[in-house]
Amino acid sequence: MSTTAALRTAPLRARAEIDLAALRANVRALRALAPGAAFMAVVKADGYGHGALPCARAAVTAGATWLGTATPEEALELRAAGLPDDIRIMCWLWTPGGPWREAVRADLDVSVSGAWALEEIIDAARQAGRPARVQLKADTGLGRNGCQPGEDWAELVGAAVRAEAEGALKVTGLWSHFACADEPRHPSIAGQLGLFREMVAYAEGRGLRPEVRHIANSPATLTLPEAHFDLVRPGVAMYGISPNPAIGTPADLGLRPVMRLAASLALVKRVRGGHGVSYGHHYTTPGETTLGLVPLGYADGIPRHASSTGPVLVEGKWRTVAGRIAMDQFVVDLGGDEPPAGAEAVLFGPGDRGEPTAEDWAQAAGTIAYEIVTRIGTRVPRVYLNESGE
Ligand SMILES: *Cc1c(COP(=O)(O)O)cnc(C)c1O
Repeated sequence: MSTTAALRTAPLRARAEIDLAALRANVRALRALAPGAAFMAVVKADGYGHGALPCARAAVTAGATWLGTATPEEALELRAAGLPDDIRIMCWLWTPGGPWREAVRADLDVSVSGAWALEEIIDAARQAGRPARVQLKADTGLGRNGCQPGEDWAELVGAAVRAEAEGALKVTGLWSHFACADEPRHPSIAGQLGLFREMVAYAEGRGLRPEVRHIANSPATLTLPEAHFDLVRPGVAMYGISPNPAIGTPADLGLRPVMRLAASLALVKRVRGGHGVSYGHHYTTPGETTLGLVPLGYADGIPRHASSTGPVLVEGKWRTVAGRIAMDQFVVDLGGDEPPAGAEAVLFGPGDRGEPTAEDWAQAAGTIAYEIVTRIGTRVPRVYLNESGE
C-alpha cells in the first residue's frame, strides 16, 4: 500500500508509519558491509517500537537468518508466529525460573552468562528430552551481563563442555557485547576485541566448536570490519537510525529511517497575545497568533523533556512545542497560519520531506534516538507500508 492510500483509508488521531521497504534496504546495506557474516536482526522491545513481527519478516526477506531479542518471552512470541523453521532465534536476558523448557522446545538459542543459568538450562533440556542450544556470553569489558574472564570463564566453559559431552546441550555460540563501539577509536574497543579473541580461543581449546562467534552491534557493523566474526547483530541501524550522529547521518551511512510519526491537528484556534499555554504556563503567546493542538503526549512516548523544544512540521514549516507536553497532547504556535483541523503534524520521519527526524527529537529531549522510537506507545497504531515486495 502506498503512503497516500494508507492515509486515505486510515484517518487516525495519530499513526506511526513503518516503511518496510526502507527496513529491507537497510538490512541489505548492512549485509553488504559484512558480507562474510550471518545477519541477526535485533527485534527486541517490539522491534525498537516498530513492531517485532512485521520487522522480523521483512528482515528475513532481506536475508537475515537470525533474530535476536532480549527476553525469552519476546523470542517465544516470534517462534509462535510461525517464521520459517530454519530461522534461528536467540534471546539473552534471563532471570532464574525463566521459561527454559519452552525455550528448548521452541529451538531458541539461549544465552548463558553464569552457573545458575547453565544449571537451569541443563535441567530443562533433560526434562524436554533434547539438547538445548546455548551461547556462552563473555563480559569482555561492558561490565553488564556476561561471564568474567579468568576463573569464572574457565568454570563456565568447563561445565558447558561436560554438559555437551552428556548430550544436554550444544554450545552454538560464543559472544560478547561492546561498551563504546559508537565512539570510533575509543580505547576500550581494541581491548574488548583482544579479550574476546582470547576467551574464544580458550573455549575452543577446551573443545567447544561454536557455529557462531559474534560481538558486533550496529556501530561495530558499520565501522569495525575486524569485529564482524561469523555474525553481526544490528538493531538500531536496521531501523535507519544512526547509532551516534558522530559516526554520520543515516544518509551518510546508506540508511533510511523506517518510522514516520504523524498526527492530525485536533484543533486550530486564534488567541490573543499574552495567553498562557499548557500546564504551568511555560509558554505565553508573544502576540496574537494561532495555536494548533497535537493529540500526542507523554503517554504515547513523546518525551516530556522535549517541552518547549521538540520540533513539528505543519504545512511545510517547522514549529516548536509551545510549553509543556502533557499526557495526551501538546500545543504548537502556528504563528498566525490557519491550517484546518485534521491537517497533518509530522513529528519525525526520514527527514527528506522537510520533517524533523527522531534524532532531532532526541537532541530536543537530551536523549538518544533509540529511546525516541522505542518508547512510542501502544496507543499509536502502526501502519505498515510496502509490506510485500522484495
Ligand atoms: C540491543 C542489542 C544489540 C543491538 O544494538 P544496536 O546498538 O541497536 O545495534 C546487539 N546485541 C545486544 C546484546 C543487544 O542487547
